[in-house]
Amino acid sequence: MQVTEIYRSIQGESSYAGLPCIFVRLTGCNLRCAWCDSEYTFQGGRRMGLEEVDAEVRCLASSGLVEITGGEPLLQVREAVLLMQRLLALGYTVLLETSGERPLANVPPAVIKIVDVKCPHSGESGTFREQNLEALTAQDEVKFVLVDREDYEFARNFTQQHQLTMRVRSVIFSPAFRRDASGARDTSHCLLDPQQLAQWILADGLDVRLGLQIHKFIWEPSMKGV
Ligand code: SF4
Repeated sequence: MQVTEIYRSIQGESSYAGLPCIFVRLTGCNLRCAWCDSEYTFQGGRRMGLEEVDAEVRCLASSGLVEITGGEPLLQVREAVLLMQRLLALGYTVLLETSGERPLANVPPAVIKIVDVKCPHSGESGTFREQNLEALTAQDEVKFVLVDREDYEFARNFTQQHQLTMRVRSVIFSPAFRRDASGARDTSHCLLDPQQLAQWILADGLDVRLGLQIHKFIWEPSMKGV
């Protein structure tokens, strides 16, 4: 499989945020979200066999969380599924971060899926595969990255229309982060003020989680591999 990087850091998103986690970041993405901070994964990387990836992961930690991410990891679905099966068999808790555009049907049931639904200002709205709703389970999470009120209303309406909070463990509304952010490790780089988002969520009485990408507050925001 084509791999951009494998490293251990603190999980920055989802309800697993704050926990140590090994990241296996696969190369390539078929979307081009306006605020994407992972453009360096679109090409390059190194060709690795399953055994090599497995060995590198085990070198970093022998148990705990592993996240398969990208880019879009399900572009390499055959290899990604084999890797997830292998990591589950070794006793890791496996997270999969995916754009929601690729079919989820072949993902092993024990894998915790963190699935994006792209909002209007991502520039990739409409790419979510509606059949994927049926593949979501009570352990999974759905994430919306928001830039403004229009994105918020899209996320709110989608959540309500599909009763997402009944389907999954966590529905996450997260402010987009400026992709050229550097320097200050604070909310000045958020394209939507978290305080404003909090007020909207509370005013509408939504049972969703406000998510901040905590790795942007722990490390210098432009740092890769953290
Ligand atoms: S799906 Fe993820 S990796 Fe691909 S362009 Fe969007 S944010 Fe970037």
